[in-house]
Amino acid sequence: MIAALLLLQAVQSPLAARADTAPPVHDALHYDITLVIPDTGNHVVGQIETTWRLASDAGLQLTLDSSLFVVRIITPGAGGRRGDWARKNDLIHVPSHRKAGDTLLTRIRYHGPVRKGMVFGRNPAGGRTVFADNWPDRARGWLPSQDHPADKATAAFHIEVGPGLEVIANGVLEKVDTLVNRRTVWHYRIRQPIPTYTMVFGVAPFAVTEAGKSACAVRCVPQSVWTYAADSAAAVNGPFRRIGEMVEFFSRTFGEFPYDQLAHVQAATLFGGMENAGAIWYDERAIAAGRLSEGTVAHEIGHQWFGDAVTEGDWHHLWLSEGFATYLAALWAGHAGGDSALVAEMRGAARSVFGSKDTERPILDLQATDLMGLLNTNNYPKGAWVLHSLRGIVGDSAFFRGMRDYYATYRNGNALSDDFVRVMGKASGQDLGWYFTQALTQPGYPVLEVSSRMSAGRLILTLRQAQKAEWGLYRMPGLELLMDGQLIRVDVEGRETSVTLDGFKAKPKRIEVDPEEWWLVRQSN
Ligand SMILES: [Zn+2]
Repeated sequence: MIAALLLLQAVQSPLAARADTAPPVHDALHYDITLVIPDTGNHVVGQIETTWRLASDAGLQLTLDSSLFVVRIITPGAGGRRGDWARKNDLIHVPSHRKAGDTLLTRIRYHGPVRKGMVFGRNPAGGRTVFADNWPDRARGWLPSQDHPADKATAAFHIEVGPGLEVIANGVLEKVDTLVNRRTVWHYRIRQPIPTYTMVFGVAPFAVTEAGKSACAVRCVPQSVWTYAADSAAAVNGPFRRIGEMVEFFSRTFGEFPYDQLAHVQAATLFGGMENAGAIWYDERAIAAGRLSEGTVAHEIGHQWFGDAVTEGDWHHLWLSEGFATYLAALWAGHAGGDSALVAEMRGAARSVFGSKDTERPILDLQATDLMGLLNTNNYPKGAWVLHSLRGIVGDSAFFRGMRDYYATYRNGNALSDDFVRVMGKASGQDLGWYFTQALTQPGYPVLEVSSRMSAGRLILTLRQAQKAEWGLYRMPGLELLMDGQLIRVDVEGRETSVTLDGFKAKPKRIEVDPEEWWLVRQSN
């Protein structure tokens, strides 16, 4: 009984928990995407050829919005008959007639109006625009797929558009064919596996500005900026001015850039910025109004390493993407503006957490079912704080070594929080389980009441954790306090921590908790 119980506990560690309701069964290796984009309206014609590696003899279960009519599905060479598939609403079942370990090709032809995952519009000059915009699980609005972040695949795009339009997509532009009616077909290919939520293309009359190559000491990254004509000068001189330095800084800090190129694209997207692998979308209105910040650009570039190349293996571990990108933007601010700029970023992040109700739930909120709701204060600023405090605990050298190891180990794959914990434990030589359990599975943050009194010529300092009982107690080894200009360190553990100090003649007038800002902690007095 004891062995079984231990096993149960090990399996249920929230740091390793997969809580998604529909994790992928088989492994999509490659999506070959052919789409005809009409000159007006939202009725597309598509053919998607997918190469699968089967994990069992169970058939494929794909999702595609029911607004799209499936013309036919064939599985060349698999012994199936035409029409040997079934559809119920958004679900398509394709029998494989194969065994585990086999590969299978499916070719799906469909057409119809796209209701989600693609934004159809006009830019301010009246030009047609169409953008795929998939996060979190809207790729199924137009791409029949196993639409889950744990199933990464390479992709090729063949996008046919009307005269005067350009197409951008993930990866490298291989060629552009011109058809007799002046329509064009744009062929892109990305060699690295990426999650379906970042498999995108964009169509518009773009002005393309080449931004040169950067980070060549590590790995050359050609960058370009794709905007509408009216916004090209402002974009290149404004928030994109330092994209070369950003890619260089992150490449040197975490390892080489994961993709063959990076395009920054003015786009119609639900989000302020969306980190699509190698082709970042930025809100078209923010660029037009001069509101896009350098911080957003740094955040989306940071995602290319964490989120895109190393992808959360389950939606509930989203902090591995958003917390990391938020911290990378703060690191960039520190790199560009000095340590005080990093501290200012982390203070801003702390204020967001202190002012939010999200923190009543832990970062790893395994009960969450609303994916859009995961775009919250926990996964962004609080997630960034998990990394910052970790850096404070293990020191710069172990922290950055661990980040590099983590990127190198899980690049082009998936990770759960537990994988990061293991890599960081190895890099630091410390058992960090207590820290990550506290940071990721406890709600809230510590609130400290600090008091002091003199007794027999010595100062007695007491730190009391005053946060709500439901948040639990926090451990903060080496917490710094600045008392009338003198810095001391206290290992905070349990409801109340008391230390006796020599060298004080009277009670200090001013006690500042954590003056260098390493912990997400609030001082209540
Ligand atoms: Zn992000």
